[in-house]
Amino acid sequence: MSLQKGNVQRTRPQKHRNHTVFKNSLHDTSNRTKLINSIQVSDVCMRCKDIIDWKIKYKKYKPLSQPKTCVKCGQKSVKQAYHVMCSDCSKKLGVCTKCCQKKEIVPGPPTKNEQIKLDNEMKALLQSLPERRRRTFLRYMDKLAKQKKQEGDELKDKDSEKNDLMDKLKELKISEDDDDDDFDDSEDGQSSNSDNDEKQD
Ligand SMILES: [Zn+2]
Ligand SMILES: [Zn+2]
Repeated sequence: MSLQKGNVQRTRPQKHRNHTVFKNSLHDTSNRTKLINSIQVSDVCMRCKDIIDWKIKYKKYKPLSQPKTCVKCGQKSVKQAYHVMCSDCSKKLGVCTKCCQKKEIVPGPPTKNEQIKLDNEMKALLQSLPERRRRTFLRYMDKLAKQKKQEGDELKDKDSEKNDLMDKLKELKISEDDDDDDFDDSEDGQSSNSDNDEKQD
């Protein structure tokens, strides 16, 4: 019996379950899909970014064949699909290029120079950490990389990954400054960082 009437609370587990995360490039290795997968959605609010990212992930994304007219300046300056406003207007007004609302906007990818600067900053921070913290960080980096791999996101979001890493570094740096007396670091092994405790396979 598959369905008991009125029984909303399911007692048995779902029969058919995906064993792996959906990956749009599993059976499709075309350049078009690769290209679309590498798009970094920016100049939009978080909500619109999610919507467009969803389209990319589930292969609903249709790139523009030619620039669209911006709703603000009337120029053919909209280069990203699903955006209705050009980046320039969006920056001037501080609004999302898709829903045109004044919200927090996801910035575009950093320039080469910014990337180099960030890399150097990260290296310096890492160097300044004590050995134990450094290992915590490397473990975190590993975990993040594995996660990305599982989600099939290796190509994409290199920058957001870097931001995550940077945040983690800063966090370690800050906690380093104020936890000297809180616990004894002399013993290795059991990390007291709760976010490293979850087991993943
Ligand atoms: Zn415009
Ligand atoms: Zn929006």
